[in-house]
Amino acid sequence: MNTIGILTSGGDCPGMNAAIRAAVFAAAARGMRIYGIQCGYQGLYDADWEELTPEKVDDIHQRGGTVLRTARFLPFSDAARRKGAIRQCIRNCRKNRDAAGNPNPIEGLVVVGGDGSFRGAFDLTKKNLPCVCLPGTIDNDIACTDETIGYDTCLNAVCAMVDAIADTARSHDRCIIVEVMGNMAGDLTLYAGMAAGAVTVVPEEGYDLPEQGEMSAEEVARFDGGIAQAIAAAKAAGRRSFVVLVAEGFTGKKDKNGRTRYPGGMEALAKRIQQLTGVETRADVLGYVQRGGKPSARDRILAAQMGARAVRLLAENQSNRVVILRGGAVSDLGITRALHMPKKLSAEDIALAKSLRYDSV
Ligand code: ATP
Repeated sequence: MNTIGILTSGGDCPGMNAAIRAAVFAAAARGMRIYGIQCGYQGLYDADWEELTPEKVDDIHQRGGTVLRTARFLPFSDAARRKGAIRQCIRNCRKNRDAAGNPNPIEGLVVVGGDGSFRGAFDLTKKNLPCVCLPGTIDNDIACTDETIGYDTCLNAVCAMVDAIADTARSHDRCIIVEVMGNMAGDLTLYAGMAAGAVTVVPEEGYDLPEQGEMSAEEVARFDGGIAQAIAAAKAAGRRSFVVLVAEGFTGKKDKNGRTRYPGGMEALAKRIQQLTGVETRADVLGYVQRGGKPSARDRILAAQMGARAVRLLAENQSNRVVILRGGAVSDLGITRALHMPKKLSAEDIALAKSLRYDSV
């Protein structure tokens, strides 16, 4: 393979730039050419790309987000439009010319993104554009890898923000309920809560959550009851302030009718907890500040290891692979297998987080 492309897709995350830089350096070291594709699959469809060189990307690794920009490209998600869109992307890659106008087809692709992006890569691979994927998402919701690029930075950012929120909760004898990103994956909520000593509620605790619409009245009562009980126990132990982290999947994600699973979202939850506990309660949504910012050293290193491996795999004509971290080592496995592994949050760690809380002693 002489020429490859790289794109970032889905939500941005810290470390994407470090992955791009590592891929460009690895390609240059092998005498391969590499094109940076703008805005994920949208740029592939529009042939919006430029050749990257080590000089062009040398200083990008410290920056959050992605210099290639990212987008959700709807024709790939829509089964009716997908075939035509894939065809157009493949055609564009085959027709690529270098700056001098000589034919220079893009023969393989590095895709950095979440599992939705992996599905797009799988479709491209089926049509003979070999792809290798890197897991890049703050959510850590990709089962085949112990950690995704961006997760460590985000976890540290959330932990720091929860520490700060605890200061103000303490000063006012308040309860503050904080919504943490991660969609339906509770990793950020659980581990930030464990690190900061807060109460946590995550979908993996066995809640029966609908794809669309609101939780049942029984599940709402169970949800409220768990938080109220934790606060009551802590109050009985002499505690006057409380911080509760709630995963975004309950209160933040809206269905097509604008409804969150927890009816009324964070404001309604705070009111309800105040009624149940008698403690003045506020809601706080951390939002996008969790996702941006300088990547941690750990994320930069993981991104570098993964970016270099992706280029090596393509150079060896391997394709349809996801680069993963398992037991401290970077390796890879097939996209199909990667997509069919169920995501699990450690039950032991859910129990540990509970045992470390102020209401448990
Ligand atoms: P994040 O976890 O940050 O949301 P993601 O990669 O899972 O990242 P998605 O929005 O699910 O984010 O997917 C990104 C893009 O991947 C979509 O906009 C679409 O172009 C493509 N994609 C998603 N699902 C599919 C699918 N089933 N088949 C082909 N392509 C898909």
